Amino acid sequence: MGVVYSSPDSALTRITVVYRCRCGAAVSEVGRHAGELPSGWERLADDRCICAHCAERRREAAATASA
Ligand SMILES: [Zn+2]
Repeated sequence: MGVVYSSPDSALTRITVVYRCRCGAAVSEVGRHAGELPSGWERLADDRCICAHCAERRREAAATASA
């Protein structure tokens, strides 16, 4: 799991980055958005990120743990 870089065609401007979550969710960002996480996603480490759903669950768990 993590971030996979791929280039579906040879044009430098057509870089696609696919972000994959441990839950199986995957979102691809193209071109100028390729270096940014999709909306709501959180980066846990350089090579690991989680989707908006898992990020929300993670925040809930953290809030519960500290309550
Ligand atoms: Zn997820």
